Amino acid sequence: MNCFGFTFAAANLSKLKIKIVMAIIITDECINCGACEPECPNTAIYEGADDWRYNDGTSLDGNVVLPNGKAVDADEAQEPISDEIYYIVPDKCTECKGFHEEPQCAAVCPVDCCVPDEDVVETEDELLGKQRFMHPED
Ligand code: SF4
Ligand code: SF4
Repeated sequence: MNCFGFTFAAANLSKLKIKIVMAIIITDECINCGACEPECPNTAIYEGADDWRYNDGTSLDGNVVLPNGKAVDADEAQEPISDEIYYIVPDKCTECKGFHEEPQCAAVCPVDCCVPDEDVVETEDELLGKQRFMHPED
């Protein structure tokens, strides 16, 4: 592999690491009760098989570059992350930072299946930065 190939591979790995970052995830123990969805201040929770959008419940509009560097169309419908159970969009979850002291989904979940992803943890500054980016007017 030449140096350009190596650089390209490293850049892709870096992007992958950004992509898989999750603040809170819903495990397959979810019973689809729906209690968590209305509690999310970022509209980051969706019912299984439902499409999602960056602009749902946020101020994002049109083509934007997220704090993690990803360029997206905020108005475009995105594929469901799960077809079976409620799911959380990692790019929209801030662990409720900027709104509440603790994750609201975890607080209401009757089976305690909203849990932190211990493999990949975001800093508080990063989470607050995401919150301000999605809700600059707050
Ligand atoms: S932790 Fe907060 S922001 Fe993240 S999905 Fe749960 S309710 Fe939404
Ligand atoms: S509150 Fe818990 S069990 Fe109910 S839909 Fe949300 S994650 Fe699933």
